Amino acid sequence: AKLNVGLLFGGRSGEHEVSISSARAIARALVTAPNTENYALRPFYIQKDGCWQTGAIAQQVLETGIPLPVDESMGATRLSLWQFPSDVADVDVWFPILHGPNGEDGTIQGLLKLMQVPCVGSGVLASALGMDKIAMKSAFAQAGLSQVDYVTVTRTEVWSNPCVFPKLCDRIEAVLGYPCFVKPANLGSSVGIAKVRTRAQLEAALDSAASYDRRIIVEAGVTAREVECAVLGNDQPKASVIGEITYSSDFYDYETKYTEGKSRHLIPAPLSSEVVAQIQDMAIRAFKAVDAAGIARVDFFYVESTGKVLINEINTMPGFTATSMYPMLWAASGIPFADLIDRLIQLGLERSQE
Ligand code: ATP
Ligand code: MG
Ligand code: MG
Ligand code: MG
Repeated sequence: AKLNVGLLFGGRSGEHEVSISSARAIARALVTAPNTENYALRPFYIQKDGCWQTGAIAQQVLETGIPLPVDESMGATRLSLWQFPSDVADVDVWFPILHGPNGEDGTIQGLLKLMQVPCVGSGVLASALGMDKIAMKSAFAQAGLSQVDYVTVTRTEVWSNPCVFPKLCDRIEAVLGYPCFVKPANLGSSVGIAKVRTRAQLEAALDSAASYDRRIIVEAGVTAREVECAVLGNDQPKASVIGEITYSSDFYDYETKYTEGKSRHLIPAPLSSEVVAQIQDMAIRAFKAVDAAGIARVDFFYVESTGKVLINEINTMPGFTATSMYPMLWAASGIPFADLIDRLIQLGLERSQE
């Protein structure tokens, strides 16, 4: 019998559209690739308001790639602990191809764990650590991984006390200087991130980041090449070849990431074998530091002038379209797209037996 793969996509996240793109690529491979003939696709679409849609509606979003407008969800099955869509019972393995909050952050992973059905990718702990840049940086520091200097900020410090705010900005200027990057702690796809060069920009960026998240991180800006490494496996994870991203915009922001032609992927990145080995080693250590499973993409800064490699972040459910870095890195490392999906599902099944 075929294994029913519950493909969960969309999500109550700023990366909703990216998730739909990832899901379409995975669905296409599951339906057409010869080595995935053992799998049957069961699409589950989570709308921007958190409503679950299954069957024909989910299938339609997969086919068109267009998010379902939220007001059309009236009367649909709203997920709650007492009312799951009934098709949930047919799923043999979950593939939560959700990016960002409410999907990549441990919340869905906890729900799927309670369902006692195997799941592709990291569990609760790694997902939560990987999504929260403050907790992630603590785990990386503990593992001895080099990273940029940073200051952590709460929404309360930004919004609630007019006496605290100027002192906070003074401290950020003294510790980090300019340029620095202001980021909501829990997001992805560069949503809510600003590169700031002046006090006025810093104040505006903190105010804006506070609207996305209770927790904010401000990082020292580095001038560096941006390189990424894909990791695959459970307890003996393997690192892929290294990829580099180049672009001509100010930084790798949302528009640069998702507008055709605004960025380029160089695979493999032109790097010495020593630097490649160092990045691969750091990627595996980062994967283990957060207790990741199955899949992760680890992002780095390579400061060519000093030869230093700094870890930027780990993404426990990276973008997965046919032209995304994660599947392209594995294709260049000898694992084509459809095989990769097969491996990820198998790793999810193996892990559920641990
Ligand atoms: P992803 O889509 O990979 O999940 P994200 O939203 O988690 O992204 P980051 O990877 O932290 O965001 O940052 C997005 C981009 O901003 C980086 O790829 C880089 O171009 C720039 N950037 C972030 N932090 C720094 C920094 N400290 N110094 C220089 N550039 C930075
Ligand atoms: Mg990220
Ligand atoms: Mg991400
Ligand atoms: Mg990143």
